[in-house]
Amino acid sequence: MFLSKLIGIDLGTKNTLVYEAGRGITMNEPTVVAVADENIVLAVGREAEDMIGRTPETIQAICPMKDGVIADYVVTEAMLRYFINKSYGRFRFTKPTVMICVPGGGTSTERKAALDASVEAGAREAYLIEEPLAAAIGAGIPISSPSGSMIVDIGGGTSEAAVIALGGIVASNSVRVGGNKIDESIATYVRKTYNLLIGDRSAEDIKKTIGSATKLTPDEKMEVRGRDLIAGLPRTITISSHEVTQAVLPALKEIMIAVKSVLERTPPELSSDVIDKGIILTGGGALLRNLDQLMAESLGVSCQVADEPLYCVIKGIGIALENIDLFKRSINLLR
Ligand code: ADP
Ligand code: MG
Repeated sequence: MFLSKLIGIDLGTKNTLVYEAGRGITMNEPTVVAVADENIVLAVGREAEDMIGRTPETIQAICPMKDGVIADYVVTEAMLRYFINKSYGRFRFTKPTVMICVPGGGTSTERKAALDASVEAGAREAYLIEEPLAAAIGAGIPISSPSGSMIVDIGGGTSEAAVIALGGIVASNSVRVGGNKIDESIATYVRKTYNLLIGDRSAEDIKKTIGSATKLTPDEKMEVRGRDLIAGLPRTITISSHEVTQAVLPALKEIMIAVKSVLERTPPELSSDVIDKGIILTGGGALLRNLDQLMAESLGVSCQVADEPLYCVIKGIGIALENIDLFKRSINLLR
């Protein structure tokens, strides 16, 4: 019998990562596709991202995932095909088996879309795993234990909180607030305060460089370039970390409200486990400085950022892919 190759895909709103069984993580690219008329794919990932904002009219740079789910099916499928072909080669006799994650508590339509896109893109069969379970496995949480664990994954488009026990999700919630909304609130603050228009990338850069969920002492500053809204010309301002903290707080509060609602719906036995063990943060958003501290203070439960939060989901998919029997209660096989 020919064993088909196993490929795992973390299809994120912001980043897509690929895992090949036996090889590890083989691709890590922004979820962006550049297409010409009639949906012809010109570039995927970093190369496509560099085209954003500077493409001629006939070329479009598309982010096909929105709020954690497939927003542009045709483009998502084209992107998956590109990733699968790249890691598998186009002319093999057996098609690969693919494991892909879907948001926890996603609708059956969303699940079916992810499955269909994988199969259309060249998979022989597809396993689906709920994202919080993958994140938890990748963060080293023993998900099959009867003891409850809580994971909060903060991605580009969404933040998802889930309590996990016995290999399944007991309570979960997601909000459409993640890194993108945090970046937007920084851009809005700069526009309103300084009459300066800055791009998404500059806003993200500010967040990563001087952003903090709590007030930093000493304060940090950085220069930002944008376009003056009145004069229309380039101008440089200096922004401080304190200003960024103030700008992003409302978005962070929305995330914490979602986490709190999950805690409130968790059976008492399990919530006492969570209080004992603390909440684990994954996803790129968890890298915002002092976010663990702010969450711990406002929720009254200790919080800890997982190792390599940007890789937790793909690492978890990889572990599940290589141990399908061990995790069969947590994954769905669909053909
Ligand atoms: P998704 O799974 O939705 O694609 P990721 O888990 O890959 O999202 O996380 C992407 C988000 O993480 C982006 O919004 C990015 O700005 C944010 N991020 C990455 N590094 C940092 C950092 N050092 N500080 C704050 N946010 C960060
Ligand atoms: Mg993600």
